[in-house]
Amino acid sequence: MASDSAPTPLTSLTREQLKEALSTIGQPSYRSDQIIRWLYQRGASSYDQMTDLPKSLREQLAEIHPLQAPSMVDRQISSDGTRKYLLSFSDGALVETVGIPSRDNRLTVCFSTQVGCPMGCVFCATGYEGFTRNLSCGEILQQLTLVQDDFGQRITNLVAMGQGEPFLNFDAVAEALAIANSKKGLNIGARKITVSTCGIISGIQKFAEIDKQYTMAVSLHAARQSVRDLIMPHAASQPLAKLKQALIDYLEATNRRVTIEYTLIDGMNDSDKDLSALLSFLSGLLCHVNLIPLNKVEDSPFQPSHDGIIERWLEAITARGVEASVRHSKGQDIFGACGQLKNHRR
Ligand code: SAH
Ligand code: SF4
Repeated sequence: MASDSAPTPLTSLTREQLKEALSTIGQPSYRSDQIIRWLYQRGASSYDQMTDLPKSLREQLAEIHPLQAPSMVDRQISSDGTRKYLLSFSDGALVETVGIPSRDNRLTVCFSTQVGCPMGCVFCATGYEGFTRNLSCGEILQQLTLVQDDFGQRITNLVAMGQGEPFLNFDAVAEALAIANSKKGLNIGARKITVSTCGIISGIQKFAEIDKQYTMAVSLHAARQSVRDLIMPHAASQPLAKLKQALIDYLEATNRRVTIEYTLIDGMNDSDKDLSALLSFLSGLLCHVNLIPLNKVEDSPFQPSHDGIIERWLEAITARGVEASVRHSKGQDIFGACGQLKNHRR
């Protein structure tokens, strides 16, 4: 690295880069596993904690690859036990992360992949915020260790459904998932990991190449092009016909069932026409449909669909032989539910 450039933080390095960095300074490759364990199994926030590394190495690493841990700026606890954290990274970037406990001792973490989001979906609080930057692989994982420490409980499930579009930060997300899944990392089962995308086709193609049983969820929200263009303006470059073909190719390549997410918004995407368009989009797709009642977003004109609509849609979809369920978000009283996350203080 040129001496006049800022040192690369430890958490921005992939496992390969970390190994290379260690070998450059004459260290054996097992040091990389030691560091990964300290970082992501034990949530170390400084090199001083890594007591099985020689002190001189810790000092050297602190200089060339500083370890920067996020600070918890705020934590809110919902009446249903969900906890929402506002975290600040060393450059002041703020993201929200949500920990969702359940009775059977599960702990699900909903994490962010970007600071803000460039996609601008009109019903989503993150969409209003605009985009600041991508998170590094380590910054994604630090959210997880922080939640794990706060609950004092192992994470069992992961969902990339916080702020940001994961497939616009593909490499960092893929590396973070690999470490989260690895026995040397957080040891979370691949089947317990879900990534939600607004339908970035190149990302779907790359995700298909990952040989892991991760689940991919696609935020469809409209199966009529004109409606989708209106509510997900930046997804217009990923047209529905191409999206469907990408899903068919994905299914063929992976044999992994996809989840289709559809948030019902009153008067926007919940008419009979929208339902028939959805049914025809679903035909020939091995998928599970999640119908999501719209969560309230401050200052947004959009309202959830009227009572009864979700049930009617559920019936119509299951009548076609497609599995469907309603996803009720937790943590609504602390604005920690889907689409309610934004990167500023209360
Ligand atoms: N960018 C990715 C992942 C983050 S959003 C994506 O769009 O898929 C996680 C989920 O919350 C997505 O399905 C998103 O469409 C949904 N969502 C956004 N705003 C919402 C709202 N106000 N109510 C309910 N769900 C919402
Ligand atoms: Fe971004 Fe997803 Fe929100 Fe759309 S719904 S603005 S893609 S976070």
